[in-house]
Amino acid sequence: MARKIGSRYTANQILGRGSAGTVWLGEGPEGPVAIKLLREDLASDQELVGRFVQERTALLGLEHPRIVTVRDLVVDGNDLALVMDLVRGTDLRTRLERERRLAPESAAAIVADIADGLAAAHAAGIVHRDVKPENILLDMQGPLGPGGSHPALLTDFGVAKLIDSPKRTRATKIIGTPDYLAPEIVEGLPPRAAVDIYALATVLYELLAGFTPFGGGHPGAVLRRHVTETVVPLPGIPEELWQLLVQCLAKAPASRLRASELAARLREQLPLLAGLPPLDVDEPDAESADEAEDPAARDPAGDQPARRRGAVSLVPGARPDSNRDTHTSMRVPAPDELAGGAHGTARAPRATGAPRPGSARHRAAMRRRRITLGVAGVVLAAAVGAGAWAATSGGDEPPADTHSTSAP
Ligand code: ADP
Repeated sequence: MARKIGSRYTANQILGRGSAGTVWLGEGPEGPVAIKLLREDLASDQELVGRFVQERTALLGLEHPRIVTVRDLVVDGNDLALVMDLVRGTDLRTRLERERRLAPESAAAIVADIADGLAAAHAAGIVHRDVKPENILLDMQGPLGPGGSHPALLTDFGVAKLIDSPKRTRATKIIGTPDYLAPEIVEGLPPRAAVDIYALATVLYELLAGFTPFGGGHPGAVLRRHVTETVVPLPGIPEELWQLLVQCLAKAPASRLRASELAARLREQLPLLAGLPPLDVDEPDAESADEAEDPAARDPAGDQPARRRGAVSLVPGARPDSNRDTHTSMRVPAPDELAGGAHGTARAPRATGAPRPGSARHRAAMRRRRITLGVAGVVLAAAVGAGAWAATSGGDEPPADTHSTSAP
């Protein structure tokens, strides 16, 4: 059923639902668009509407072939909507769920695309802060690239910036998805561009392995692993690709590559990766001893093991209507962080008792790692201390002088 959004757009058909609202296939003066209509409770929040208007220029200014461009922001009565370029395809989470693991060439090509997009965002002074497969769209109408992959685009720049307010993040004081959170965020440091590199390297690992390097179990345990554990090598991974992964998963942000370097290094490796099959890594099973012991690992309906979910909702009030909860934020990095850092690797000792990725325990834990906000808030506070999160809460505003926002 069609509905008008402002005076210029019509929303025709639902494409998908997310934590922040519903995404519609729509029509605008210049043709088809995707319209993200924010949830009613968000749209009726005056503070949020103010931010929405304030962020207009920054949101609309980010244009790059590997970024889903936000074309317009509409405030109309009860409607609050972001009008975006329409990407005809699927998101990377959906592809990963279908294929379980991607061939190294295909994975590297997708990640190189996203690194290109991040390079442009970082150069514009914007850190994404929620890079994950759910926020990577594959353009099925684009030309096939290396490994038979369609062009990949990074989306959701700015949405959580809008819904990120001290009021809304008070319960957890965090923004992001535990599996992809860089250790410096866990330690309470302000997130710089390097957090996106860490998250993107985590995505690359996940595309190759079928699971994230530090995921599984309580969010608090996941966060601890980011800080204390060493990433476990993947059997059969080409050495150069592994070195790149290790470097970008370095605990020290300054040791990670810059986005442009990551893109270039991945593209250099594409010819070496051509034709390699997906890695032969243990898959998470449907059943495991851990799940049998732990009722929380089962879905509320009872018998089935809980399905792996896309993300933990960290936004109070997010309805459980999607497994694609998202909570991005943007901030302006300081000039020094945009300049990047030295190269090298940082390895930390493995924490006692933590499951090794790929082990049966880890695989079981994978299935119950997404828990609800309320539980997450308590566990996170207990595990890392509420203070560790303060930097990502309301005090995380970008400096006004560097963020080119203005009312329309
Ligand atoms: P949220 O960020 O609120 O959780 P998402 O951005 O994940 O919501 O969007 C929900 C669904 O809409 C996803 O399935 C995604 O594939 C689809 N979608 C989002 N943006 C676009 C777009 N620009 N073009 C086409 N489909 C989109």
